[in-house]
Amino acid sequence: MSQQEHHWARQALQRLEKEGLPPLPKFYEMFYIYYAGKNANLQMAIDTLAREFGSITMQQCENIYNAHLGIDNEHKALNDANTALEAELKKVMTMIDEASSGTKKFDATLTSFAGDLNQEKPQIDMLKIVVARVAQETKTMADQNKRLQERLKDSTDQISELRFNLDKTRQESLQDPLTEVGNRKFFDAEVERLVKEAATNGEPLSLCMIDIDFFKKFNDNYGHQVGDQVLKLVGRTLKENVKGRDVVARYGGEEFAVLLPQTRLEDAGRVANLLRISVGNKRITRKNTQETLGTITLSVGVTQYRIGETVGTMIERADTALYKAKGDGRNQVAMAVLPQ
Ligand code: GH3
Ligand code: MG
Ligand code: MG
Repeated sequence: MSQQEHHWARQALQRLEKEGLPPLPKFYEMFYIYYAGKNANLQMAIDTLAREFGSITMQQCENIYNAHLGIDNEHKALNDANTALEAELKKVMTMIDEASSGTKKFDATLTSFAGDLNQEKPQIDMLKIVVARVAQETKTMADQNKRLQERLKDSTDQISELRFNLDKTRQESLQDPLTEVGNRKFFDAEVERLVKEAATNGEPLSLCMIDIDFFKKFNDNYGHQVGDQVLKLVGRTLKENVKGRDVVARYGGEEFAVLLPQTRLEDAGRVANLLRISVGNKRITRKNTQETLGTITLSVGVTQYRIGETVGTMIERADTALYKAKGDGRNQVAMAVLPQ
């Protein structure tokens, strides 16, 4: 810690005392950042409160912390996983250090024994002692290595588990929990990625915007839970009917988006129709009673990306086509009209 940092730390502690606040790590962190001048908005918020009320309460502190320094749950989960991973890696590094210093010590011992043996006329008694000590040192070294190996294995297992959890958290943050297809965040990232790819390699990219027909009626008639079941079924059916490289996401509410890389408009229209028919062929049944509740249909708007245009323009065009499919009677696919 530099002198400057010491100074900020002291100021932070003094301020906590002056405000009569408990020295909780996060309050301390907040005032440390305040005195270090690292966050202008935070500074302004604290100064405003101090000016208006003379002092700052714990609740106000909490609010400022959450607004300016708090991290949302998803980031927290990633952060926690990362911290745990780092701690585990540090342990492994320490073990490797220990192992190499253990080996060095063993080497030194052997060298010194070799020195003893190199004397002109080694005595038989001394030889006995040396052999016994070499045996002892070797055993110690072997024991140490065994323990180290066990600990290394524990750590490696722990690291694999942490990696797995980290991947899972990352993946979950991009998945819609209900339908298990990608969420809107995933779609936004994927559309950017695929548009760049299409612009770079000149290959076509198509987009289908899909909306469930009369879903509100379905929800109202049979309840939200059945509605949720329908959303799951649609998500699953869409996924089952596209290729691995295609992107399926829940765009919002009862609307889905499917991105089809390396696919021209007409072919995308064919895929869209296949999706529409596949969903239309499913019978919806009430889970506990097996009562048949009927079928659901989809309306789809399809378009192809035009090089140079923004993602927003492409989505708007697909939306307009979707709107046309609804207007023309639903349960159909409408192809977007491309501007000349
Ligand atoms: P249209 O054919 O014109 O698309 O009519 P619609 O009824 O499908 O469209 P509208 O936009 O009027 O209604 C969409 C409904 O979707 C309203 C909302 O209650 C329902 N919804 C949105 N998200 C969910 C969800 O997560 N679960 C359930 N069960 N329903 C949802
Ligand atoms: Mg809708
Ligand atoms: Mg709808």
